[in-house]
Amino acid sequence: MTPLVCKFIWFAGVASWFVIRYPFQSRSKKIRVIRSRYGLRETSILGFASLCLYVIPGAYAVTGFPRSLDHPFFPAFGWLGLLVLCAGLWLFFRSHAELGLNWSISLEIREQHALVQDGVYRFVRHPMYSSFFLIALAQFLLLPNWFAGAAGLVGVGILYVFRVRQEERLMQETFDGDYIRYVTRTKRLIPWIL
Ligand code: SAH
Repeated sequence: MTPLVCKFIWFAGVASWFVIRYPFQSRSKKIRVIRSRYGLRETSILGFASLCLYVIPGAYAVTGFPRSLDHPFFPAFGWLGLLVLCAGLWLFFRSHAELGLNWSISLEIREQHALVQDGVYRFVRHPMYSSFFLIALAQFLLLPNWFAGAAGLVGVGILYVFRVRQEERLMQETFDGDYIRYVTRTKRLIPWIL
């Protein structure tokens, strides 16, 4: 395991992200949105997260910028990063598969939106956000640079903090008692813990 191999693994992770998401994005786009929170706030949050998850680490992987913030590389971190990335991508895929046509990039309710409580959603309410945290942690382990490595965790943290309550409010407005019962028996990110 070398820093160069880790950069390739990181690129493969980003490519897998888009490959996994594409079919769900194109299918759900065809269904009419009946309630939406999409606006400047959402666009800014998503833009910031993309900057931290793709642009900053991508620029680092290609140019080495900012070199002054490099830190020592340990092969064990690379292996651990690969493992965490695989776990994150698996969870990313499972949460898309489970949400199916109810998925959307923003906070939206579509026609015939159903409350999903099965599969990975049986254990946590936000498995896709859990997968984002795992993928961001993998970025930190794979890229030996304080700025580019940690950027993903900052981006996902901001996305999560500014979105999760709004999303849960939207779900409660739509599914009322069913969602309240679902909230009482599940945690947000880590089963039985958080
Ligand atoms: N926060 C979830 C889903 C992210 S995708 C996760 O981390 O797994 C965002 C969209 O999913 C939102 O538009 C929301 O309406 C929808 N959504 C979130 N939880 C859902 C659920 N349990 N069932 C159906 N749709 C859900």
